[in-house]
Amino acid sequence: MHAEVIAIGDELTSGQRLDTNSRWIAAELAVLGVPVTFHTTVPDTVEAGVEAFRLASRRAPLILVTGGLGPTADDLTRDVLAAVAAVPLDLSEPALAAVEARFSRRGVVMPESNRRQALFPRGSRIIPNPEGTAPGIDVDLPRAGGFSRVFALPGVPLEMKRMWRDTVEPAIVAMSPERGTIVQRRIKCFGAGESAIEAMLPDLVRRGRDPLVGITAHEATITLRIAARGPDEAACVAKMAPTEAIIRECLGTIVYGADDDEIEDAALEALARMTATIATVEAGTAGRLAAFLAQADQRRQAAGVFRGGSVVPTAVIDVRAAAEAVRRDRNATHGVAVGTVRAASDGREAVDIALASDAGIEVVEHVLGGGTDLAPTRAAKWAINTVRLRSLEANR
Ligand code: AMP
Ligand code: MG
Repeated sequence: MHAEVIAIGDELTSGQRLDTNSRWIAAELAVLGVPVTFHTTVPDTVEAGVEAFRLASRRAPLILVTGGLGPTADDLTRDVLAAVAAVPLDLSEPALAAVEARFSRRGVVMPESNRRQALFPRGSRIIPNPEGTAPGIDVDLPRAGGFSRVFALPGVPLEMKRMWRDTVEPAIVAMSPERGTIVQRRIKCFGAGESAIEAMLPDLVRRGRDPLVGITAHEATITLRIAARGPDEAACVAKMAPTEAIIRECLGTIVYGADDDEIEDAALEALARMTATIATVEAGTAGRLAAFLAQADQRRQAAGVFRGGSVVPTAVIDVRAAAEAVRRDRNATHGVAVGTVRAASDGREAVDIALASDAGIEVVEHVLGGGTDLAPTRAAKWAINTVRLRSLEANR
């Protein structure tokens, strides 16, 4: 069984608000073993809504929709569903009583417009809303050879999530014959670009592969997402293991962690393993180097590997001298200095990174890819990666 997700609202199609509901629902469906094949976003008009449901119900046996269930004139989801199902809207007395009770509990008389929230396409089922006034609608739309089941929920994320847990999720579990699950694992990489990493892997990022492998890049960190489908979590985990082993073998130290790990977590871990500590000084990274390391230090149970850092506003610093000085001043085993971001010989941007320790002082020039906006973040991450790699070598 596969599903489609529809988001309804002018605020979504106009770009004023991000459609986080569809993302959340799709991730929940994945956990239930139900792949999502289409996301559709439509404004608050009957025509767009009707068209979206006609297409979706032709393609999928299950449709999840959020938005447009409020009391106002632009909330048209109930009208759209009645039109596509070709049935009238009936007033539900129990639903009306529930909406009225919600108002009277707050000592308020129900506005006439809220009566609309007690209207349901004939033959549909009511999804109770413990968090708000708008009940959801569970309705079957005719499709060739059967029905497409629609769960319509309000757009307010808190209400939508509660109704999903209470009613929708159990209903979907009950209707899915395969009852499988999908488990995902993210392998985190640093030190090469997206396409370079893909080229290092033997045809893993192929559509239709099982387990499926996808690549995404964010701030110089490359994530390989492995997704496996199986009868239960243990089966999925076992199925992913050989793929992860291939990735680790092909990429070596480019792989620094998994799931939520950041490069700075891996660097501090490598330092901690040899009971080392680190202090920083930075000119071109606007405090990001210290911020990344301070945050990672706080995430660790035993904090204290990061000994603090300073941000210098001067245009040019001698990174070699600065790395040694900060290590001494802050009583750390390692000192890192990052210079200003400057034009490299080939016109791109470069930054000097110095690392001082008992082993001596090393200065590397790193050429940055990507736009200028990201240069400070990338430079800080590259400096952190240099610390990680040297620590790994020292640990060996
Ligand atoms: P509605 O059910 O259409 O009245 O939506 C109520 C409110 O929920 C909207 O004003 C938005 O703030 C929010 N909302 C609606 N749809 C979404 C969505 N797809 N993702 C996140 N928030 C949403
Ligand atoms: Mg709306």
